[in-house]
Amino acid sequence: MNTTANLPKCPACQEDMTYPDGENFVCAQCGHEWPMVAGTEEDEGALIVKDANGNLLADGDTVTLIKNLKIKGSSTTLKVGTKIKGIRLVSGDHEVDCKTEAGNMLLKACFLKKA
Ligand SMILES: [Zn+2]
Repeated sequence: MNTTANLPKCPACQEDMTYPDGENFVCAQCGHEWPMVAGTEEDEGALIVKDANGNLLADGDTVTLIKNLKIKGSSTTLKVGTKIKGIRLVSGDHEVDCKTEAGNMLLKACFLKKA
């Protein structure tokens, strides 16, 4: 039984061996994975992450902390008002990947506001 009739070809190797896996298509030939959802209003693959004020954050944004954040496993505390440049959005519980004076870390968007 051929169940691949309505599935797209693999954009990586053009083989017709795609199968669905959760929200992604997976190519059985080369292992390439890509999201099923395409053509939404947001950029493809864009994450919806909002800061403490409900503003949308984007990769490369500058944000400031709205509260002191103690860094786990160190004596460093990031102070309220600390500016963080060039954030990167990631999926997960802590949505903002950024570089601070204490090093690279993941922060929750609800503790940040867009600068
Ligand atoms: Zn492929």
